[in-house]
Amino acid sequence: MTKRLFLEESYLAEADGIITSVGEFEGRPYIKLNQTLFYPQGGGQPGDTGWIESPVGEFRVIDTQKSEANQILLFLEANHPLPNVGDAIHQKLDWERRYSLMRMHTCLHLLCSLVPKGVTGGSVGVEKSRLDFDLGDSKLDKEVLTQQINQLICTGSEVMSLNISEAELDQQPDLVRTLSVQPPRGSGTVRLIKVEGIDLQPCGGTHVKNTREIGPVRISKIENKGKRNRRIHLVFDNTDV
Ligand SMILES: [Zn+2]
Repeated sequence: MTKRLFLEESYLAEADGIITSVGEFEGRPYIKLNQTLFYPQGGGQPGDTGWIESPVGEFRVIDTQKSEANQILLFLEANHPLPNVGDAIHQKLDWERRYSLMRMHTCLHLLCSLVPKGVTGGSVGVEKSRLDFDLGDSKLDKEVLTQQINQLICTGSEVMSLNISEAELDQQPDLVRTLSVQPPRGSGTVRLIKVEGIDLQPCGGTHVKNTREIGPVRISKIENKGKRNRRIHLVFDNTDV
């Protein structure tokens, strides 16, 4: 099983590794590594991109996905022969993209804390993100929400991860905010993300260490998606910078 370096240290942009498998899925070549920085698409966050330096040349990693067996597949843009199993490689993230995703993802935790309703879906993007809430009859105001979320960002609150047992999670079902995705089970522990004094919920994504790193954001749109569902769109607000 690949060691998931991104879970322990989300700021690591480069690392070494060994290729443990080379294969093809739907005509696209991939490799597996003994340890990786590349976050596989999941929980609304897209898979990482970057580069692999191998003995046979440099490869662009165009996507990272989880296999059905929960293995991490790094998809390569291959225009020359693939590297081999056992090769020592150096992996580099497209850090600018990943850091934007970390800022956005952390910001969605803040949004969750401001809208105490069930989350029915969501997507993290480099420039814009969205979360869907089962809002019922509650009303939301775009301008008010924008002001509130920027206030939370400015608190400079610390973001940290902690692990609890699945049994402990079962005793606190309120922790699970996402209706559509239950946290991954089976390992005995569940990873929680805590935004000090603001939010606590199970999450396997990558986050910044302090809310201030998110920078100014704006709620760009609140859309009706059915009778009870509202889609909240969020963008980085570069107008003040
Ligand atoms: Zn998260």
